[in-house]
Amino acid sequence: MELNEFVNSISVLCSYYERKEPKQSTLEVWHRWCHRIPSEPLTWIVRKIEEDYENFPRNLPGAVFEAYGEWQQANPDKMAAERYFYCPDCIEGLIFTQKIIDNMKYSYVFRCGRCRQSRTTAYPIAGRLDLLGEGYIVGGVQPTEKLIDPPPFDPNDEVAKEYTPQNYPREFKDENPF
Ligand SMILES: [Zn+2]
Repeated sequence: MELNEFVNSISVLCSYYERKEPKQSTLEVWHRWCHRIPSEPLTWIVRKIEEDYENFPRNLPGAVFEAYGEWQQANPDKMAAERYFYCPDCIEGLIFTQKIIDNMKYSYVFRCGRCRQSRTTAYPIAGRLDLLGEGYIVGGVQPTEKLIDPPPFDPNDEVAKEYTPQNYPREFKDENPF
């Protein structure tokens, strides 16, 4: 979806919840999270959020993704063009993370370095274990509030043995993903 379509949808939600519209910079960050979602289900997504949330969602991109997931399940025929395979480290090739810097929580999206199935070049490539090691909170499944707790990191885990941080490409090291 384009930024203006996304902004219009957020406007509708702000009216519905009688909430002040977010700053342009916030909208742009949220759009970077959500831009892969096609325009077609936007109206459906807005209505679904209105139905599911009593208040304006605290994690708006998470709520949009959750609703989009339900739309995908309800419309499998429309999803034929984009097929993703299962990867234990990501969702559809993307890793959603958060990082706490100076007591503020920031959200970052990466392309999964394990499967590399995402073609969304706007996001840097990184490995899930690498990100955990660098202090990112990695939900790994959906960027919803209930999943933001980092999974426990166990260096003796079979997957951890196989995917040591050194195995991941480091072309985006120390670079702000946004
Ligand atoms: Zn993956």
